[in-house]
Amino acid sequence: MNERVETPSDTVELILPTRTDLYYGGQWHEAMKKRRAEVTSPATGKVIASVADADASDVDAAVAAARKGFEEWRAVPPLERGKILKAMAAVLRKNGRELAMLDAADGGNPFTEMQGDVMIAAAQMEFFAGLVTEMKGNSIPMGPTAVNFSIREPHGVVARIIPFNHPFMFCAGKSAAPLAAGNAVIIKPPEQAPLSALRLAELIGGMLPPGVFNVIPGGREVGAALSGHGDVNMVALIGSVPTGRAVMKSAAETIKPVLLELGGKNALIAFADADPDEVATAVVSGMNFTWCGQSCGSTSRAFLHDDIHDAVVARVAERAARFKPGIPTDPATTMGAIASKAQYEKVMRYIDIAKSEGARVVCGGKRPDGVELSEGNFVEPTIFADVTMDMTIAREEIFGPVLSVLRWKDEAAMVKQVNQVEYGLTCSIWTNDLTKAHRTALEVQAGYIWVNDTSKHFLGAPFGGFKQSGIGREECLEELIAFTQEKNIHINLNRGVARP
Ligand code: NAD
Repeated sequence: MNERVETPSDTVELILPTRTDLYYGGQWHEAMKKRRAEVTSPATGKVIASVADADASDVDAAVAAARKGFEEWRAVPPLERGKILKAMAAVLRKNGRELAMLDAADGGNPFTEMQGDVMIAAAQMEFFAGLVTEMKGNSIPMGPTAVNFSIREPHGVVARIIPFNHPFMFCAGKSAAPLAAGNAVIIKPPEQAPLSALRLAELIGGMLPPGVFNVIPGGREVGAALSGHGDVNMVALIGSVPTGRAVMKSAAETIKPVLLELGGKNALIAFADADPDEVATAVVSGMNFTWCGQSCGSTSRAFLHDDIHDAVVARVAERAARFKPGIPTDPATTMGAIASKAQYEKVMRYIDIAKSEGARVVCGGKRPDGVELSEGNFVEPTIFADVTMDMTIAREEIFGPVLSVLRWKDEAAMVKQVNQVEYGLTCSIWTNDLTKAHRTALEVQAGYIWVNDTSKHFLGAPFGGFKQSGIGREECLEELIAFTQEKNIHINLNRGVARP
């Protein structure tokens, strides 16, 4: 029986995973050095569980197990792999509430929203399950005396390193493409929120041959050991730019391909003709206040045209005030807690810097009142106006519920400012003039652009970054293809003819 824990609501129960060790080779293992790490609740600061804390020696054992699993899995016909992935998706859907509750408990995002994350992960599994026959090669014309064609093969052992903001969605959903392509996967869950990944291993581990799906909880040491490991064939990271750099450097030692989904300092651009009501709604939903702005795609810089600036800011302040931070495991909560104390302190530091550099607080900028929230990592939705590009909060990713509003009049100067950051992930453009929207979409240096929309992801549409926001594209066929390598085969049909 799993341990049951009392929660603020009597309608949903938090059920902690029974197994909290390392999962590889189809079995659970203690960490070799027997190290354990405490998992704390971002809402209360209390310890809620302890999980194994792996090191490089555990990574060696997991990689050896994954290599064996790979040899078996690569031989499973693609449609059969797809069938297993679909069955796994069904398991996720069935256990959605329990998995969402785990993410709420250790990740700090609201339970109700996290149910959506589980469903997205299930949809990603179904999507990639349906694409297995699209791992196609080409045939190259050689005339009647030869056949030349290419096929796509899996890389082998793939490491997937995961951040804290959507723990389950990434651990499960990001396993789908490499598994569909025939690789073995080692998941390195976020150290702040590893519980749902462990439960995932309990739920689906046995549905695959031993060693095909592995979960190794631990800190950056595990991520570094995986990305530098000689027998890991590819590493895919979702994380910050500095971690992306570190992963690329260690992957270089063994020339392994990398797939990087990194940070963002994204812009929402509103033209003078846009409707202030619509823009205000978009500014607020683009900030993802529900999970405290902790989303790589959050449009955390709003460039509002001078003509509508004041009308939009007034509406944004009123709409943002509707987000009331609350206990994440309570089904009624619509805005959660920041995932860790370290991240909370980083956000508060940026708020102080913004004030000292002259940005104007429109709303928020502090912890919410209330005894219930006094020990957790809670911050009110925070909006700064009069932000200029020389200020720190206009350039650096905060990864918190902090919006910077910039006023503009000259279109060319505004676009220059939009592009004046090292990141280039998303951008949301608001205008009724589609010519203007199209022109701006072409000028903005970002990989994922919404016109008169924001925040949404569309399965099948390539998601990924320009500049330092990453390398590669996900949520689409290219993600599956990234987990394959091409092999060319030349068949000589002219054996009777002597070769020179
Ligand atoms: P992080 O980079 O600190 O950590 C991400 C993961 O990398 C963790 O599992 C961590 O243990 C591991 N890690 C840390 N150092 C490592 C190293 N040297 N080698 C290998 N692994 C290492 O990121 P975070 O703070 O957990 O998450 C927030 C960041 O993730 C933000 O920058 C955010 O924009 C980004 N992110 C990007 C996307 C995207 O799709 N582009 C999505 C979500 C989050």
